[in-house]
Amino acid sequence: MHFINIISLIIILSMDTLLAANRMPENESVYQNFRIKYGQGAEKITRNIISILEIAVPEYEKFYGTDLEREVVIFLPSSLLDFHPLVFDQLPEWSNGVFVPDRNQIILKKPQWYSTDQNFTQVLRHELSHVYFHRMFANSEVPLWFNEGLAEYLSGTALDISNGLKISNAMFAGQLILLSHVDSLQDFSWNRAQLAYLQSLSAVIFLEKRLNQLGISWQDFFESVRRNGFEQALKNSLGMDPIDFEIKWYHWLKENYKWFIIFNWENLIWVVMIIILAGALYAMRYRNRKTLRRWEEEEEKSKEEQLTQSIEI
Ligand SMILES: [Zn+2]
Repeated sequence: MHFINIISLIIILSMDTLLAANRMPENESVYQNFRIKYGQGAEKITRNIISILEIAVPEYEKFYGTDLEREVVIFLPSSLLDFHPLVFDQLPEWSNGVFVPDRNQIILKKPQWYSTDQNFTQVLRHELSHVYFHRMFANSEVPLWFNEGLAEYLSGTALDISNGLKISNAMFAGQLILLSHVDSLQDFSWNRAQLAYLQSLSAVIFLEKRLNQLGISWQDFFESVRRNGFEQALKNSLGMDPIDFEIKWYHWLKENYKWFIIFNWENLIWVVMIIILAGALYAMRYRNRKTLRRWEEEEEKSKEEQLTQSIEI
């Protein structure tokens, strides 16, 4: 029974691979080390990819301090059905792109297939960072949060009000993720994955601030990571081990993002209600005071009139 199941699984998988191979995008466009493979109707998005590469490639080469020696293939599958076999059906539903280091390939979903609110430029810039990161640190010990945090940092994701609020909400709910747990990213729901990405980004921003204070550039730090691994580079540069770093980052995060909780809709409604109530009370007191003053003035006036009348008499 098991044997038959295995045979049928092999047949299904081979058919899947064969079908995927038949549906491989047939058009190509090249920009420097990047070969974009796309199907019919994807000409516009391919031009968009090239314009993103034109900006990102020199930027990333400077940031990571390396160029790419091998060719990178960017696949744009023609349909969503073709996307999954290309990534061996291993990706979570929310993933809009992936970099496969062994094949040096980036595989991208078309934006109309996204189930999350990311945009195409963000996704491509994120995956591009993984390409350069892999080129730099393929043989070094590096935590996943550092890889994902840098990818988010370069993708243009900002810790704005909306993202700050996500961190703040998780903080107050006691649901922040340990940096070492970011390793299980692939098994997370989109909400948890989004939090893991934002926390990784915030840890990278914190690391950048600490390095800047000591006059250490990203490039110097990367070189140290390449030679000694992340843990030792952290010790050499900041004098911290990963636990020290996590504690200090957590305090910094708490200090900077706890106040974002007031932007929570429920809290915001309370704040607005309190302001309206205080405003109404103030208006009432002001009106009462004005009425009282008017009465006093009227009383004063009538007294004066009575006085004038008495003099006339
Ligand atoms: Zn990533």
